[in-house]
Amino acid sequence: MRAFELFSAKDSRDAVVLLARHSATSKVRVIAGGTDLLAELKFSPHSPNVVVDISRAEDLKSITVTDEGLVIGALVTHSQIMRSPVIREMFPALVDAAHSIGAVQTRNLGTLGGNLVTAVPSMDSGPTLMALEAKVSIAGPSGRHQVPLSEFFVGPRKTVLKADELLAEIIIPKQNLGKPTHFLKFGLRKGQALALVNVAASFWVDWEKHTFVAARVGLGAVAPKVIRAPQTEAFLEGRKITPETMAEAGRIAAGDAKPISDFRASAGYRKNLVEVLTKRALEGAYALARAKR
Ligand SMILES: Cc1cc2nc3c(=O)[nH]c(=O)nc-3n(C[C@H](O)[C@H](O)[C@H](O)COP(=O)(O)OP(=O)(O)OC[C@H]3O[C@@H](n4cnc5c(N)ncnc54)[C@H](O)[C@@H]3O)c2cc1C
Repeated sequence: MRAFELFSAKDSRDAVVLLARHSATSKVRVIAGGTDLLAELKFSPHSPNVVVDISRAEDLKSITVTDEGLVIGALVTHSQIMRSPVIREMFPALVDAAHSIGAVQTRNLGTLGGNLVTAVPSMDSGPTLMALEAKVSIAGPSGRHQVPLSEFFVGPRKTVLKADELLAEIIIPKQNLGKPTHFLKFGLRKGQALALVNVAASFWVDWEKHTFVAARVGLGAVAPKVIRAPQTEAFLEGRKITPETMAEAGRIAAGDAKPISDFRASAGYRKNLVEVLTKRALEGAYALARAKR
């Protein structure tokens, strides 16, 4: 590991000041839980000269329901998501996604913000947040602005964040509070495994017509970044909720996915997984919708 200077931020405002001060002259990185960054610092030849530690920024650690929706601070850990009564009630899919990440030690330290900024296509928090049309709030020298999560990811390990910017909050918009959503992950093992494919599906139900409303499907590990499944969503809109519709949606989702073959799985196998998991995620969301009715 190469030597670097470490600065500890008191809060998000202080972190932005530190990033602005050092990013002009040095290669700067933020550290939150450190579960990804520490490995990178040890093994990557492109180490930063300056690291800004945001782990003490209390203003990034809350989970609140506001006029905007559910606002989750970037420093909220996966374990906190699993324990949050609000999230457990509104979005069990987020709890399932958090629970599928690494082991308890990783979940205790790893943050939601860190998971998103790392931007690996197999990240487990991505599909559910995409299916819920989440936005992120970015803090920078000229204040805060919001970006849809779908535009936050640019490619593998790349986001729109600039060197002097911080991911501050993740916002699930008000209109999607409590939207029935289901997350599924398939890895080579039950625990401590990256997803070969992960899928989340969300929709409202028009109970009179018994049709899908605002169906959204998020897919992970099948493209250079976490994606929505546009053809699947268009197919589902306004259709009768039947086992056949869900099975057909799975087949269409396999077409939306653009996986590659690698040492973990072939592209064909991943497409088969997308088909099966999308169908099951829709079934899971429907079961939740019925239970909530
Ligand atoms: C053993 C192990 C198993 C794992 N298993 C899984 C798994 O199953 N599924 C999964 O999805 N992930 C997994 N991970 C990855 C990792 O734990 C998560 O991505 C975690 O959420 C990262 O959060 P962190 O706070 O530790 O990020 P850090 O390591 O602190 O940071 C990660 C990156 O994000 C940047 N960053 C962090 N927070 C911010 C912020 N607020 N603003 C701007 N930049 C920021 C850092 O500069 C760095 O580039 C695993 C990791 C390990 C070590």
